[in-house]
Amino acid sequence: MVQMTDMNKWYGPFHVLRDITLTVHRGERIVVCGPSGSGKSTMIRCINRLEEHQTGRITVDGIELTDDVKKIEIIRREVGMVFQHFNLFPHLTVLENCVLAPIWVRKEPRRQAEERAMALLERVKIPEQAKKYPGQLSGGQQQRVAIARALCMTPKLMLFDEPTSALDPEMIKEVLDTMVALAESGMTMVCVTHEMGFAKTVADRVVFMDEGQIVEQAPPSDFFANPRSERTRLFLSQIL
Ligand code: ATP
Ligand code: MG
Repeated sequence: MVQMTDMNKWYGPFHVLRDITLTVHRGERIVVCGPSGSGKSTMIRCINRLEEHQTGRITVDGIELTDDVKKIEIIRREVGMVFQHFNLFPHLTVLENCVLAPIWVRKEPRRQAEERAMALLERVKIPEQAKKYPGQLSGGQQQRVAIARALCMTPKLMLFDEPTSALDPEMIKEVLDTMVALAESGMTMVCVTHEMGFAKTVADRVVFMDEGQIVEQAPPSDFFANPRSERTRLFLSQIL
């Protein structure tokens, strides 16, 4: 589903991603972790071209990411993204947030878009919030709207960038439960998160990044029991 090969990226003179090679197969759940500033967000933002890479290759569902705007549009339709700070439109209701892209980007009839949005709001367990505005919802509810909104485009791949790290502890579980259910439905997922419980339960592979490199990647059982590099051990000792 995603193939990154020897991918490098610079922010000006700063070499932020170094020779990243990563394969994400269809149906796989990948958890990306690593210290602050290691390049996790930058890497996953390259997958839907929110950031541009300079060398190496990235293909998503067989399409190579280049400057070709048409291809970028195709890929963005197939890739849903959920951010730390929800990024909902505050002046639109929950339902309007969910149907905006299907109606305007995919030219879907409103009725059909609304029906699917309601079904997805059911799935994230907040159908009763459809007519409210984001500001009237708790953080956990807003994040579940953000997940439903991304799913409204029927993506083939979902990217999560620390979706629970801005939430109060009592709301983290409801968002993680939603993500676990999504994982169990077979969705291909790449999740930047420090929720190691989530990684142990659902990840097929954990990817550890440090200083712009992938230092280590392994199934969670190996990753937590026998981290191979010293940097991974140090990181795990700080967060577990
Ligand atoms: P965190 O865990 O804090 O979210 P991260 O692993 O997601 O960190 P990134 O946000 O990808 O890290 O940032 C990697 C490095 O690139 C950091 O040193 C950061 O300061 C730098 N950086 C990020 N965005 C930009 C930008 N737009 N311009 C210049 N440097 C940037
Ligand atoms: Mg980040």
